Amino acid sequence: MFTKTKVAALGAVAAIALTACSSDDGGDTADVAASDFPEGSTMAALAEAGSITIGTKFDQPLFGLVGPDGVPVGFDVNIGTIIAGELGIAPEDITWTETVSANREPFIEGGQVDIVVATYTINDDRKEKVSFAGPYYNAGQSLMVLADNTDITGPDDLAGMNVCSVEGSTPAANIMENYPDANLELFGAYTDCLEPLRNGQVDVVTTDNVILAGYVDDSDGEFAIAGEPFTEEPYGIGLAREDDEFRDWINDVLEEIFEDGRWLEAWNADGSAGTVLPEPEVPSVDRYEN
Ligand code: GLU
Repeated sequence: MFTKTKVAALGAVAAIALTACSSDDGGDTADVAASDFPEGSTMAALAEAGSITIGTKFDQPLFGLVGPDGVPVGFDVNIGTIIAGELGIAPEDITWTETVSANREPFIEGGQVDIVVATYTINDDRKEKVSFAGPYYNAGQSLMVLADNTDITGPDDLAGMNVCSVEGSTPAANIMENYPDANLELFGAYTDCLEPLRNGQVDVVTTDNVILAGYVDDSDGEFAIAGEPFTEEPYGIGLAREDDEFRDWINDVLEEIFEDGRWLEAWNADGSAGTVLPEPEVPSVDRYEN
């Protein structure tokens, strides 16, 4: 059942790529050549190599959730697949590397990944180390509790509560800075917080609303979202800090797919965010100065 969903999702992404190319310039993915890009650019190098390594989450339903065959499914995965397609790289030539929250900047800086598409909030601290194309989606920090917990309705209720989040994430940083009376427990990935929530070891899990929505959806009524989102988390595509040419090109691709419907198709594909979440507003790309 799980495998079938994934195969269907991959089919949907392949269909997106095909639609895009036929409506675009009449060519198909295989027609993209390194010579279509400026000499010496990252785009030319990736197109020439015919492969790309993309960092994404492996344990976040709707955005990046890996199955037994090692191929992740979700909105981030679909966005990464579209970018690869624009470089002439087929889905099967993408290497998906798991990036947890804390290793995204190091993996980009160390060259272990070419790009990161991983519920990755664009912010000033991170911009010192990496560069961001996007945003391609705007999320917000929220809280998840056991469904029968009515005591917690927002971040002001967190004093004295055991709160679970993830090292290197913006929600964890926000709790440390603005809600210091919460007892924050940090793990490596958000799924590490689920059993502690179930067995009462923690009272709350906090991260972006859309990540929590995936866990609530999978929980059979056990978990619920408490209150409304209380931060802005614009999701960007992380890449090497100095590579403005690559960033501009990814921003161009994003603007194109916002416009031609591929972004929304990626949202609504099998296993992706639109199966649970409402249709988002189209974001505006932020071509910030370094
Ligand atoms: N968007 C937030 C961040 O980038 C939380 C989600 C995550 O950790 O991936 O830190």
